[in-house]
Amino acid sequence: MRIPDELRSLRPYQPGKPISETQREYGLSQVIKLASNENPLGISPLAQQALRSAIKEQFRYPDPSCFELHQKVCNLWGQAHSRVSFGNGSDEIIDLLIRIFCDPHDSILISEYSFQAYEVSAGSSRVNVIKVPTAPGFKIDLKRLTETYFKQRDSHKIRMIFIPNPNNPTGSYLPEADVKQFVQDVRNEKDLVVVFDEAYHEFIRAQDYESMLNAVDNQGNFCVIRTFSKSLGLAGLRLGALIGPTELVEIYNRIRKPFNVNTMAQVAAIAALDDKEFIRKTQEVTWEGLSYWYKELERLGLPYYPSQGNFILVDTLRRAEDVYQNMLRKGVILRPLRNYGFVNHLRISIGLPAENQIGVKALEECLAEIPPLPPEQRCP
Ligand SMILES: *Cc1c(COP(=O)(O)O)cnc(C)c1O
Repeated sequence: MRIPDELRSLRPYQPGKPISETQREYGLSQVIKLASNENPLGISPLAQQALRSAIKEQFRYPDPSCFELHQKVCNLWGQAHSRVSFGNGSDEIIDLLIRIFCDPHDSILISEYSFQAYEVSAGSSRVNVIKVPTAPGFKIDLKRLTETYFKQRDSHKIRMIFIPNPNNPTGSYLPEADVKQFVQDVRNEKDLVVVFDEAYHEFIRAQDYESMLNAVDNQGNFCVIRTFSKSLGLAGLRLGALIGPTELVEIYNRIRKPFNVNTMAQVAAIAALDDKEFIRKTQEVTWEGLSYWYKELERLGLPYYPSQGNFILVDTLRRAEDVYQNMLRKGVILRPLRNYGFVNHLRISIGLPAENQIGVKALEECLAEIPPLPPEQRCP
């Protein structure tokens, strides 16, 4: 078959290993998953209730306009109706935006060690990816992104820049002042769209962070995406939101499939947004879990990167693949990051207190069983 070369060499997105698969493969009954930044509290009770009463409606096609959800989100986030739409996870939004704004062999510009979905989606649309090195601490280097953009804009036909804030898998964030400066620097670029991915917005505690949501207007060349998969606990239902200039949202609505957001996702999201107590508890569990892991990682002598998300990037000082496999045998799923170019780092999602304790105990055993890598073999 004639399959385009770019597609033959495409590396797929590497999701966290499912619990059921791990149980089957390792013959384990108890497995905990600290691998996909899911909400350890599960689904909000209000959303569960809404889901139960929506079951009987599932013989009908979903509402293609997501009318009630749209209403709710626009009120809650103070947005004009023409500037909001939804996707089957932010995944789908990322994919469609690339299809809309890039022709094959155009380029997107991203930071090294930033969320892998941008690269995978670009690849499947046969769009090139230009990566800019990070600043120390794996922080996204906005100045360097700007410089690279202006240097390579014409030669590489750069059409989009993706900025996850905070970033996954590093947990680093960008302060408001830097983001505003960046937006200012590129705001007259008519052939450029900047996407701010705020998947972890609810977890951020840094005082100098500000969402770009309120800065979206019809004159700007940027948009914001949010997900319902993390703090709102609906990863399995697939729902993301797009907030952007009217012109962008209009074309997005023409390109997306009419039933991309199913009824269960719509009703659950409306209820989840109302469940303030659940969101508050989620933040509390996450922040306490982060402190617990920081303390334990310090005790174990493992370097880590302070996180504004619900996960931590950890330097295991060992071959991360060995640690990952060893942890699987102990019934703990972590996230390997080899596709990002990390050799000795893993990502750990914050779980419930009991899960975090099991995770720490397993990791401590692991460290005794696996010898450290000589420093010259560690990377980056
Ligand atoms: C988890 C995550 C998403 C959300 O993906 P969904 O497709 O909405 O589940 C988006 N961006 C980043 C940076 C993420 O980590």
